[in-house]
Amino acid sequence: MSESAFDLIVIGAGPGGYVAAIRAAQLGMRVACIEKEPALGGTCLNWGCIPSKALLDSSELYHQAKTTFSRHGIKMAGLELDLPAMMSRKDDVVRTLNRGVAGLFKKNKIEHVRGTAHLKSASSVEVTAAEGTRSLTARNLLIATGSAPIELPTMPFDGKQFISSNDAIGLPQVPKKLVIIGAGAIGLELGSVWSRLGSEVVVIEFMDRILPLMDKEMTSLLQRMLEKQGLKFRLQTAAESAKVERGKVRLHWQASGGGSAGETGTEECDMVLVAVGRRPYTDGLGLVEIGVGLDRKGFIIADKEFRTVVPGVWAIGDVIGGMMLAHKAEEEGIAAVEIMAGHAGHVNYHAIPNVVYTFPELASVGETEEEARADGAEIKVGKFPMAANGRARAMDAAEGMVKVIGEAKNDRLVGMHILAARASDLIAEGAVAIEFAASVEDLARSVHAHPTLPEAIKEAALAADKRAIHA
Ligand code: FAD
Repeated sequence: MSESAFDLIVIGAGPGGYVAAIRAAQLGMRVACIEKEPALGGTCLNWGCIPSKALLDSSELYHQAKTTFSRHGIKMAGLELDLPAMMSRKDDVVRTLNRGVAGLFKKNKIEHVRGTAHLKSASSVEVTAAEGTRSLTARNLLIATGSAPIELPTMPFDGKQFISSNDAIGLPQVPKKLVIIGAGAIGLELGSVWSRLGSEVVVIEFMDRILPLMDKEMTSLLQRMLEKQGLKFRLQTAAESAKVERGKVRLHWQASGGGSAGETGTEECDMVLVAVGRRPYTDGLGLVEIGVGLDRKGFIIADKEFRTVVPGVWAIGDVIGGMMLAHKAEEEGIAAVEIMAGHAGHVNYHAIPNVVYTFPELASVGETEEEARADGAEIKVGKFPMAANGRARAMDAAEGMVKVIGEAKNDRLVGMHILAARASDLIAEGAVAIEFAASVEDLARSVHAHPTLPEAIKEAALAADKRAIHA
């Protein structure tokens, strides 16, 4: 068994791990990054953010060609879905980006170690791969092993009729009817993909609303829009059990609240996508053996500076919990290695945007209206409908609105919520504004190009002081 010594070993090459490795190399550290999967990029690049967005973009184009091109004066004849071609474009996007990460490792002289890591101590890791076992040592270890889909005991994943998001990004055929358990971002995004491609989609959700952590008014609006697109919702409903009969899944549900509490029923479908959340992935790492603390749900306990209780062992990303987002993992990775190098690394959790890539997209940063009002604080809320935005009209994307929330006492911007086409891009303005402690007035006074979608943000800021121009 060969042994190599590094300044830093990163375990996991997802967005948290690979970005941390690059930043550490920039700071002069000798870095190894261990990854058990053949391709770099983690969940985000291989099964998450990127493949799902590639399919969302392709399916949206198909849907528009079917439904709205004619409004632009474009006549379509013989429109057909070529699902294998759509999947292969998605795979190409992923492969190109995989190669990009490998290139960045090479450029930054990061050693990419293929294999599964197991911690032997706070400074040594054993890596098992097909070629054999290797031992690595380092002054610091950074755990960035991410997360995996949660499985329901009553419906274990079989990759065919009980599927996870990993399967749902690569189905060989469009299911006639797809039941999705869980109305979070992953369920709604993948539900949108398959609904646009022709599936009947029913979403079952235990809570009384979709996207329970986002602004209620905005999520209610989004639900209505998704319903108009054909998605059906069973809220306050528990998916109890399921069995396969003559090739079809019969899923039994029970209403858990509202007027119909206790009512039971069955959905018959081709497959069930279980999208009830993700669990921290620490399988086989040997964390407990070296003394790293885990919480009740198995997330690694790390302090504000990403240190675990074991000196020299750090953790970031999905595996420490909080918002399970790629950019949150990246920022934590950067902050952790900057702190290791003696710099002042920091993540501003108030300024982390959160996006649901449905159509329209729902994006938010900062506090929801419910959170802003929670402790009796006086707030000002400005709203502006996309229907009154010239560019949205020109694009034929006039659904949705922008909501801006400020503190009444000092005008400080505390939240922004956007339901609109390209909300994912628009929300960057809110993230920068909150990062710079901007006031609502700052947004209202900033000159926005005309005609553009971001003008709706300026108008919402003006509306907070009842002086919107176009509404
Ligand atoms: P991961 O990306 O999970 O990477 C962890 C890596 O560690 C993996 O490659 C794994 O193989 C490796 N690993 C684990 N154990 C070991 C071991 N013992 N030895 C070696 N390697 C190991 N987030 C967004 O911000 N935007 C989105 O649009 C978005 N869309 C998503 C869509 C879907 C369908 C899903 C499932 C997720 C999506 N996410 C999105 C979430 C995002 O993918 C995660 O938040 C992000 O990948 C977390 O990064 P990470 O580096 O912490 O972990």
